Amino acid sequence: MIIDPKKCVACGNCVAICPMGAIHIDPKTNRASVNQDECVECYTCFRGMSTEHLNPTMVRTVRKIGKWFRWRFEPEPDVCPTAAITEQELSWPRIVRRAFSDPVVPHESTGVHGRGTEEVKTNDITNRVGPEEAGFTVEFGRPTIGVRFWQIQEMTTALAQLGIEFEKRNPVTSLMADTATGEIQTDILNEKILSAIVEFKTKFGNVPAVLQRVREVAKTLNTVVAVGVSTRCDEQGENHLEELLISEGFTFNRGKTNLGLGRKG
Ligand code: SF4
Ligand code: SF4
Repeated sequence: MIIDPKKCVACGNCVAICPMGAIHIDPKTNRASVNQDECVECYTCFRGMSTEHLNPTMVRTVRKIGKWFRWRFEPEPDVCPTAAITEQELSWPRIVRRAFSDPVVPHESTGVHGRGTEEVKTNDITNRVGPEEAGFTVEFGRPTIGVRFWQIQEMTTALAQLGIEFEKRNPVTSLMADTATGEIQTDILNEKILSAIVEFKTKFGNVPAVLQRVREVAKTLNTVVAVGVSTRCDEQGENHLEELLISEGFTFNRGKTNLGLGRKG
């Protein structure tokens, strides 16, 4: 995202809107400016603010005169008065920022809006996670902190050594150079995004080692990491993961149960 310096009147409204704190008012130029390295192309500023098309010269003059009389001309807080916030054409590799940060853009690899897949919500039909298997989601980043792909790669390469199987339809998997090693394409490693989800599955016996590895690597990353584990319940609705996790010293909370009502006749 860029801000047109010819239009910006430095009202400051967009500064608070940006979830990454990437917009600031440059005191030298007295214009808003976007830190391109921190901007994740989420489009919150562009789409989330209303715009007026006031003449920038007129607004600056009114604001200057107002200062002499100690009154201020301020637009409504959710308005860019001069429509100065401007989208730029995104090319590779920067375009991956938007794919992972703007929720209204469907990801090319999955056709799904957002960062992951349906996970195990449709497992009764897809059978992605079979008996004696555990499905994992490892989520990285949040508004205000985000995540870079090299940080995600630290986790994926560490997990790949444990013999896990990355979900093929997941957007991060689609950007891997090698799914056997968990390495991500080198040209996107420094791209920053709002958040991403890595999905994979493994055998039950491997679950404690995987959780331990996630915990170890997460401590070294300067971002938020959240992990979820899923499994198939048996005919009585019981899962066999709970006992395993508790015996290994992890806490267990059943977050969600999918009933399989979409099962094919
Ligand atoms: S809201 Fe518009 S005019 Fe105000 S600082 Fe931001 S870009 Fe400039
Ligand atoms: S696109 Fe998102 S991250 Fe970039 S400046 Fe706008 S609100 Fe901030």
